[in-house]
Amino acid sequence: RQNPQSLLESPHEMSQIKKVIGVVSGKGGVGKSLVTGLMAVLMNRRGHTSAILDADVTGPSVPKMFGIHSRAQGNENGILPAYSKTGIGLMSVNLLLESDTDPVVWRGPVIAGTVKQFWSEVIWGEVDYMFVDMPPGTGDVPLTVFQSIPLDGIIIVTSPQELVSMIVSKALKMAQMMNIPTLGLIENMSYATCPDCGKQLKVFGESHIDEVAANFSLPVLGRIPIDPRLSAACDRGMIELFEGDWLDGAAAAIESQK
Ligand code: ADP
Repeated sequence: RQNPQSLLESPHEMSQIKKVIGVVSGKGGVGKSLVTGLMAVLMNRRGHTSAILDADVTGPSVPKMFGIHSRAQGNENGILPAYSKTGIGLMSVNLLLESDTDPVVWRGPVIAGTVKQFWSEVIWGEVDYMFVDMPPGTGDVPLTVFQSIPLDGIIIVTSPQELVSMIVSKALKMAQMMNIPTLGLIENMSYATCPDCGKQLKVFGESHIDEVAANFSLPVLGRIPIDPRLSAACDRGMIELFEGDWLDGAAAAIESQK
């Protein structure tokens, strides 16, 4: 059987990308972009070169998180990524739009074509870990994006208020169709810490993440609390200043992947 990944385009000849990790979720708003951003920052802090390909074309939020409002530049060889303050390369539809509040009302094939170009025509240079902020869900658009970029693994982001088992099952199947390993689950908005007494509040009730992870034989790579400092940092373009060790396990898991 032909490996579906063998049909993928190669990256730009001036790009050497060692590992590509897709970040997926069942729907929008669970924190997929936040996790993508945090993972890129963390890997960068751990001494690796990291980059973000924002494939969430209709809801691109990565540039804002990093405080990047410039337009993408190009030269005769291709398109250049924008670089964050700490040197993380980014490419997003928002860097191509006249105004970053313009809506993107493209159909699936156009979206997939754009993402393919982000992969094959952007001069990424040398990158140890590229994180791809995937379109949310498991429908036509995310599937086409799965088929457009040679992912080495995916991470599934969930939140306690979702039907986690169904989402994980669908995302896992989609990845398996393309022979892509699922590295594990990250639960976002797991709890909030009371500022007065320090107690952890389960805002959305008890989490089922451990049960679900065990059923699918996947590890839970991290749990991120609801923290107004996180959303404030994203709103102000200062995600690179985040403090927290919630994703250290996820970073270690990615580093140890063969
Ligand atoms: P998605 O990519 O899944 O659509 P985002 O990462 O864009 O979701 O997150 C949606 C919004 O929720 C953003 O404004 C983000 O800053 C906020 N948010 C996400 N996770 C958290 C969290 N753990 N604590 C506080 N705010 C969060």
